[in-house]
Amino acid sequence: MVDFGFGLVPSSRINLDSFDKDKYEELVSMEPDARICMACGTCTAVCTAGKFVHTSLREAIEDIFNAKPDNALADLKACQLCGKCSMVCPRGINTRHLIMSINKVYSDK
Ligand code: SF4
Ligand code: SF4
Repeated sequence: MVDFGFGLVPSSRINLDSFDKDKYEELVSMEPDARICMACGTCTAVCTAGKFVHTSLREAIEDIFNAKPDNALADLKACQLCGKCSMVCPRGINTRHLIMSINKVYSDK
């Protein structure tokens, strides 16, 4: 691609070489259900904190897959652990527990 020295939009390229497989395996060993999320966004649609400030478990899980764990933590920073998302997840994921595990695994880098 020709480099014109400027761009109209930020790059959306993903460097999968930076994917931390060990951290992901640690997360999945604690939360096997992290594998079955289908990114439907139901959890995000009902999120209590999301009514006021950006909060999205769906995006957090995608950010982890896209080797952007810092973004994942930011997506969950305002979570109040109310558990509402757990009640609506069509895959029956204990989302509240998953959020706590994501914070635990990726916060201590
Ligand atoms: S537990 Fe967190 S992510 Fe889930 S609905 Fe409550 S505030 Fe939102
Ligand atoms: S509701 Fe469940 S399956 Fe849908 S994005 Fe959230 S965690 Fe994933």
